[in-house]
Formats: sequence, structure tokens, C-alpha cells
Amino acid sequence: MWRVALPLALVTLFCSPALIGAASPDGLVLATPQSASAVMPPPACAYQDVTTMFAGYGDWALTLLDTTEMLPSGYVPPDLVSTSKAGLNGGYQVRAVAVADLAAMAKAAAAAHAPLAVASAYRSFATQVGTFKKWVRALGMSKALLTSARAGHSEHQLGLAIDFEAKGGRLPWDYSNWATATAAGKWMAAHAWQYGFVMSYPAGKTAKTCYGFEPWHYRYVGRAEAAAVRASGLTLREWLWQQLPAPPEPAG
Ligand SMILES: [Zn+2]
Repeated sequence: MWRVALPLALVTLFCSPALIGAASPDGLVLATPQSASAVMPPPACAYQDVTTMFAGYGDWALTLLDTTEMLPSGYVPPDLVSTSKAGLNGGYQVRAVAVADLAAMAKAAAAAHAPLAVASAYRSFATQVGTFKKWVRALGMSKALLTSARAGHSEHQLGLAIDFEAKGGRLPWDYSNWATATAAGKWMAAHAWQYGFVMSYPAGKTAKTCYGFEPWHYRYVGRAEAAAVRASGLTLREWLWQQLPAPPEPAG
């Protein structure tokens, strides 16, 4: 499957505000896209099974997962540790690469009187099969698809997605909007990016993310990447799509 991607240099050129609409020295007038997302939007949401391009264990910051792109069923991160390593409740696992930032974030949230707890973290392919079936039984297929990922398509299989809850509070999905109803949710919406975590499925972005609003679901991509995603104004799916390399030139 060809990906609709522009060569990186061209994207960089288009994304530079100083160059938008400018004429090159030889008089060539550049196109005038209004934003990066206008240049290279992700494809419309579809339900397919395409193995994602960055599926190595070291590629975690760039692994694009959505309703089309997926991980192999045998993808099991090699460095899973208990979330208790980050000073949070145990019973869940996360990749060791995220522990230092997760610990710092948990400490900062607690200091701001918005203590966090983990409601879900790593889920294996097999676990996700059951999770998705549970939602289909509860909601029917069409609503389940907006709420839960099919096995292989879940960011939880990366070991880097965490569903947070307020420590001592109800489950986050029991609130109409966890990000405004709890101190923990508010703090996370404002500060999680500073610790490398991005809210994957923000409000009002279903057409871009392919999922409903999940104010409790954060994915770790590292501090530099999280800052870049925030600065871009794009959803994580859109931003990751832009990081894909250009396809080879068509033959002929
Ligand atoms: Zn989640």
C-alpha cells in the first residue's frame, strides 16, 4: 500500500511560514498550503489490517497505530515492568523506557494535589481480543469501534499507553469528562506533555483520530516528541503520519 506522503524536505519547506507564498530565486512560486495538516492529512478512518511501518521495539516513539495500522500479534515489549516502579499502583505493566518520566509526572501531579493512579496499561494482543469483544457485547459493533481498538490496533499493546484515573476516584470513563471533572484529569491535560505523554484521542477530533474522546488515555512518546506534537497543534495520529518516510518514486 502506498502512503500519501511528501518527501521530508518538501514538507519542511511547506511548513515554513516564511516561505509560504514566496517566490524562489528563479521565479517559481511555491504552493501556499495553510497548515501542515492541509499539506499531508492522514487517510480517512477505515477498518483494515496493515502492519505498521515502525514496528520494531526501538521504534516506539514513531509507531503509528489506528483503525488501519496494526502491530503483529507477537509484539510483546521486552522491557515490561510494574507500574509500581514509577511510584504508582501496581498490577499493571509499562515499558521501562517510560518509567523515569512516568515517575516524575506522578510525583509532580501529587505535589499539585492531583494524584494519579493507573486504571490500565500494557495489554497483550490476546487480552485485547477479549477487551474488544467485551465492548462489542456492551455497545454493539459500531459504537465499540469508536471506543475500543481491535486486537493489534491498540496503543496499549506498545506498553506505552496508560489509562489514568484520579487516585481514590472512580474509574475515569465513569465521568462525563474526566479531564474537567477531576483535579488529576485537569492537571494531565495541562502538563502531561511536559513529561512525554500525549492525549491520543482529544475531544472533537474523532474524524482525525478515528476514536471517541478519551481524556484518560495517554501515550508516552518521549519529551521532545510530545513537545513537538503539542507545538504542531495536530493530533498524535496526524503527527505520526507526517513522520512516515516518502514512498519510492513510482516506476516508469
Ligand atoms: Zn486506553
